[in-house]
Amino acid sequence: MSFLKRLLLCLGAVVAAGGILWCFDIHCLVKEWLGLPCPLCGTVRGIACLVQGNPVDALYWHPLFWLTPILMAWHLLPPVGFSGEKKRNCWIWIGVTALYLGVYVMRMILLFPEAAPMDSNPNGVLLQLWNSLPLG
Ligand SMILES: [Zn+2]
Repeated sequence: MSFLKRLLLCLGAVVAAGGILWCFDIHCLVKEWLGLPCPLCGTVRGIACLVQGNPVDALYWHPLFWLTPILMAWHLLPPVGFSGEKKRNCWIWIGVTALYLGVYVMRMILLFPEAAPMDSNPNGVLLQLWNSLPLG
């Protein structure tokens, strides 16, 4: 399967999964359960904005929204493009992880806890635990 077909398949899978979650009014399973946004929060809404012709809004929802389906297509569906170069793949994934974590930290500093998609869920386990601590 060509990379373009894999990319389109992964893009469709992201949009379909997002659509199902949207129908059940669940925007992120991590946020729903833990109460805190995850590093991928806003990705599906970013892709949805791009599909609707709003690239600026898409970048607001997640600056790396475009990278997630590319990474999925590259890694999840066989054959993996660079399977024989494991050492190089390792450094690429370390860089990608660092990029996502850096963007996550910046978004948490700028948007958490009020602005979507980095808002909190007060019913999440971690926030309920935090609020139950006798800290004063
Ligand atoms: Zn999330």
